[in-house]
Amino acid sequence: MNLSFEHVTLGQRVLFGTGAAAANLAAEVGRLGAQRVMVIAWDRETPVARTVAADIKVALWHHDVVMHVPIEVAEKARAAAAEAGIDLLVCVGGGSTTGLAKAIGMTSRLPIIAVPTTYAGSEATNVWGLTESSRKTTGVDDAVLPVTVIYDVALTLSLPVEMSVASGLNGMAHCIDSMWGPRVDPINAALGAEGIRALSRGLPLIAEDPSSTEGREQALYGAYLSAVAFASAGSGLHHKICHVLGGTYNLPHAQTHATVLPYVLAFNAPAAPDAAARIAAAFGTADALTGLQDLRKRIDAPKALADYGFTADGIAEAVAIILPAVPASNPRSVTVENLTRLLQTALTGEDARVLLDL
Ligand code: NAD
Repeated sequence: MNLSFEHVTLGQRVLFGTGAAAANLAAEVGRLGAQRVMVIAWDRETPVARTVAADIKVALWHHDVVMHVPIEVAEKARAAAAEAGIDLLVCVGGGSTTGLAKAIGMTSRLPIIAVPTTYAGSEATNVWGLTESSRKTTGVDDAVLPVTVIYDVALTLSLPVEMSVASGLNGMAHCIDSMWGPRVDPINAALGAEGIRALSRGLPLIAEDPSSTEGREQALYGAYLSAVAFASAGSGLHHKICHVLGGTYNLPHAQTHATVLPYVLAFNAPAAPDAAARIAAAFGTADALTGLQDLRKRIDAPKALADYGFTADGIAEAVAIILPAVPASNPRSVTVENLTRLLQTALTGEDARVLLDL
């Protein structure tokens, strides 16, 4: 790897402590001097959010959260924040909830404290996403980067195993895709590798026992590292594919990432031997794809896009939308033919090894 590089580190406080979310939040609200706090939490996460917000004064609760942040949902939340004279946003939940806080922060420039309950990692990136007329748009704006992230493993214990696995593999996708992202550098590659190690240690422990504190800690720590690596390296081929599948066909975010990842790894690994060796070393296996596939087997990972509502009819359109967005940094040249093959294999859940010799 070339040791002449430019790396930007995003500034953010990270507080990691099991059972400490409420105390950490109260301290952060005090430190920031906020008077009018809006807490954003999906209905399902509201009981958890209430425990997290137990020691602060909440001016406004907001529960209208929808995955992929439809613009109408964002506009309503922005209006509610403005009307209530909010000076701090607190989001408690997964990437959808964090995404809504970011949509408000984008236009209002209000600071955000994120309290994540999944492994999506949005809390550690300056990337926002909005969906309008079935097209998802993303962008980068430092104003949407939460000023503080409060991680508390106790809040993730209720995340069902299936969602933990899918979400953890979403984190894994951040790590692996960072290895050939447009701004890959030795720092984000090192963070990504440590993220792979931590997630591959944590996820099998969670699959065996969802109340495993060690498993949850490793997964949450790995999810944070994965997001820092991803925010720094930028979206690679994997993210460009999943972004189109999620936004255009409304596929579930984490499951889509979890399903597509081995196909992108098999597709790119032969053309990126250094990245592949680094990924393999992080898994502790002889080659990168074996590491990922062994892990996927142990945790019963999602297998086929067909299981999440994608159909063969969508492939040609998806290819046409994805192709112009593929970054020039991708190690392998991407064509209509090979991208179509990649999506066909991901659709049916065929063995990803067929892409190694494509
Ligand atoms: P999510 O936030 O939609 O949550 C998925 C499901 O898990 C929901 O049903 C939710 O209610 C449930 N859930 C969350 N925490 C729980 C808990 N502790 N216990 C029980 N159930 C719980 O899904 P996600 O995968 O976390 O986030 C997906 C969204 O995040 C997408 O819109 C994606 O685009 C966005 N995202 C953005 C970035 C970024 O950098 N901007 C990064 C990753 C993901």
